[in-house]
Parts: sequence; C-alpha cells; structure tokens
Amino acid sequence: MRKVESRALACLLLAVILFFGLCYFIYKMAVNGEEWSTFKGNMNVYTDGQLSRGSIYDRNGEILIQCTKDGIIYSNDAEIRKATVHTVGDIYGNISNGLLNLKKGDLIGYSFINGIYSPDDTGNEIYLTLDANACEVAYNALGDHNGTVGVFNYETGEILCVVSKPTFDPMDIPDDPEDGTYYNKFIQGTMVPGSIFKLITAAAAIDSIDNLDEFSFDCDGSSEVEGDVINCTYAHGTVDFEEALAKSCNGAFGELSMEMGADKLEEYTDKAGLTNSYNIDGIMTKPSSFEFPSDTSVNLAWSGIGQYNDLINPCAMMVYMGAIANGGEAVEPSLIKRNSVKPNSLGNYLSEETADKIKDMMKNNVVETYGEENYPGLDIYAKSGTAEVVIGEQPNGWFVGFVKNEDYPYAFVVFVEKGGNGSTSAGPVARKTLEALIN
Ligand SMILES: [Zn+2]
Repeated sequence: MRKVESRALACLLLAVILFFGLCYFIYKMAVNGEEWSTFKGNMNVYTDGQLSRGSIYDRNGEILIQCTKDGIIYSNDAEIRKATVHTVGDIYGNISNGLLNLKKGDLIGYSFINGIYSPDDTGNEIYLTLDANACEVAYNALGDHNGTVGVFNYETGEILCVVSKPTFDPMDIPDDPEDGTYYNKFIQGTMVPGSIFKLITAAAAIDSIDNLDEFSFDCDGSSEVEGDVINCTYAHGTVDFEEALAKSCNGAFGELSMEMGADKLEEYTDKAGLTNSYNIDGIMTKPSSFEFPSDTSVNLAWSGIGQYNDLINPCAMMVYMGAIANGGEAVEPSLIKRNSVKPNSLGNYLSEETADKIKDMMKNNVVETYGEENYPGLDIYAKSGTAEVVIGEQPNGWFVGFVKNEDYPYAFVVFVEKGGNGSTSAGPVARKTLEALIN
C-alpha cells in the first residue's frame, strides 16, 4: 500500500514539474517567440543570411524594399534609396533604428498563434506614411549640405518626410562612410537651435510678462548683460515684442530671458515637449537637452536665445510647431500607415490664446522678414534660426514652421549644416519639400 502511495506521489510531483515547465515554456515563447523566429539561422525567413520575407512601401505604394527568396529588391531610384534609407534601414543593420531592424517580426509575419506560418511565404507588407517623392525632393534640395528635413501632418500625426544627410545607397554600402552616415539626425540628433528657440522663450514671455504689449527694446547692435555683451547681426533700432521676433533681436530676447529667469525657461521648455523622447512606432527619439543657469549671468540670456548649452532634437521641434498650428494641442508622430487614422493626442503644450498669438507672430515673420513672395501658394508661418557653433565656420541654418491648408495641415523642420543664414539656406528647402507634398 505504502509503495503505491509513494509512486502516486512521485507521479504527481512529475506532473506538477511538467505543468510548470510547460507554463514557463509558453511564457518564454510569448516573450521571445518573435526573437526566436527572426533568428538569422531560421532558413524559413532567411536566404543566404538575408531576410526573405516582408516588404515596405511608401504611402503611395512605391517600393522601398521587398525581401524575397530570390533576394532583396529596393526602389530602382538611387535618390529615393538614399533619401529613405534612415527610416527603412539596410539589410546589414548599419541603421540600427531602421524599420527593417525594428519590425522584423511584423515583416516575416510572426504571430504567437501561427508562428511564422503564412499561406504564400511572402510575409507582410508594411505601408509607411512617408511620401518617397517628397523625401527625394528634400534630399536634392539640401544640395551639397548635410542636414535633416522633417514634415508631418499636425492633425493626424502622419510623418510625410524624413531625410538625414550624410546618407548612403543601401545597394552600394560605402567602404569608408563619412562621419554620421548611419545616424538619423531627425531622430537621434540634437543640435544648437539658435533663434528657433525664441519660439519657446516667446511662449513663456506671453504667459508670464505683464504688459508685454508695451514692451520696447532699443537695439544698437550689441547690449550689455552683467558686464558681458550680447550681439545682434545689426542694430535693430527700437523694437516691440512682435518686431523683436521678426527681426530676431538677441538683445530683446536676452532681456526677456533675464526678466523671466531660469525656472520659467525650463518650465516652458518641458511644456513644449522638447525634453520628451517620442516613440514613433517603436523608433525612440533623443530628448533635447538644456542648461538654464540660475545665476543672472549672460549665459542665462544666451540660453533663452537658443545658444549656450541648448541642444534641440529636430523631431521634437516639429511636434512643437504642430502644437502651435493646432491651437496648442500636440499630436504624436507616426510612420506606419493604418486603415483608420486616429491621432494620438499628447495634450496641450500651450494654451489656445498663446498658440494663436505665436501663430500671428510667425506669420508676421514671413511678411516682414522672409518675404511671402518667396513662398508662393503656401500660407506659411515660420521662424528661422542661424546657429553659431564653431567660431570662424559658417553657422547652421534652421527654418521651422507650418502651413495653414485644410487639405495639407503640415508642420516642418529643416536644418542645413553650415548653410549660413537660416531663411536663405533652409527656407528654400522647406518650400521645395512642401511644394512636392502639396502640388
Ligand atoms: Zn537686436
């Protein structure tokens, strides 16, 4: 009797171990199944070490990459390949945060229930929100300069254009790539913003400085702060708040920054979403970083002018432009096209009144400084920036803003390395890219 009892116990124990082992296996499969099936040794989804399933298209069905059993097929246009490779990725994984790398499971058609079974063995098709033609136009518009261009729909969050230069042709991987070739400046970059940061300082000033309508600053080209000097490109004369932004007067914005102090600038930088890391369908952006010195030194003034230790992420700036256009509400950017476009609201970055006031000022910038005639057919709102980085070298040019157009509600960011003046170097890149998207 005793023998039977102990055998039954042993069996029970074995059954319990088996049961927990099975639970553990199912758990590991749920967590790691996708990784197991995308393992390079999996002959079902790799041919000669290359992914043999899954395709990525742009929003209009233009091929960006097709992974087949007979090899990889890219766009047959070399410029489209170079203009989209940072988003799509390359088969060698040089672009670590490209979709080819991040969406492997989706591309091969992995699911927990069916594994990698797919009836025709071709995997899945992913359609992006990108417009490959506009990316090519942006790439060409940058000319000989390195830089980045981003455009998104500020109502739906769909990203239409991302270009980062230097770039490369994924069909012809360079032996000795230029520094930064494999790095997506729009996603991973943080650069000195220069005067585009005045759009954040302006929002803080509108909300916290009394009688801003009566603000007046006499600019003779250089002003003194705590014994140090703040220079402007030329003597702007007497400017009010609106003119200070249109002429991008450093002296006036230095004074406003000193009046508001470090905490206020920091608060509005956070509120503008600049220090966020955005999750764009699994691609994480690099947060911007700032240092607002709490002493009242000239550095505080420079930090409110977009210099000192300010470093801004282009994608975050584009999202902030969308919030201004949208009456304060920010929308999360996305790259993968979905059947129903349900924008993901990030809440209000500015009050509606503040957003509308800045919007009016950005229109005034175009009318007074950049020239509406330079943007024919585009109801454009903008701010330029010319960021000094290395003394004696050409500064970097920025042009950021949005267009008001019921059918094309697009916000943009353009950064041209060593382009010099922002409105003349980055402005035309914005115009050409927007024209490609709108016309
Ligand atoms: Zn000035």
